[in-house]
Amino acid sequence: MRVSRNCPWNRCSFCPVYKSEKFSVRSAANIKKDIDLLCKHAGAIRQSLEGSNGIEPEAIRRAFCGASMI
Ligand code: SF4
Repeated sequence: MRVSRNCPWNRCSFCPVYKSEKFSVRSAANIKKDIDLLCKHAGAIRQSLEGSNGIEPEAIRRAFCGASMI
C-alpha cells in the first residue's frame, strides 16, 4: 500500500516515471480508507475461497467488482 505519492528522490537518470510530479505524503485518513477497503475485499475473497482448493479468478473479480458487475 502506498503511503506517499510520487518519488522523494526523483534523481535516477534512467527513470522517467515521476519527473514532473511533486512528492507528497498521503494523509492518515486517506490511508485508513485504503486499509478499510482492502480489509473488505480480503474478507470477500476469503469468504469466496472457503472450502475451495485455490484462488479462483472469478472469486477475485466478484470481490473487487461486486456482484452487479458480473
Ligand atoms: S527509480 Fe524512479 S521512482 Fe525509483 S527512486 Fe529512482 S527516480 Fe524514484
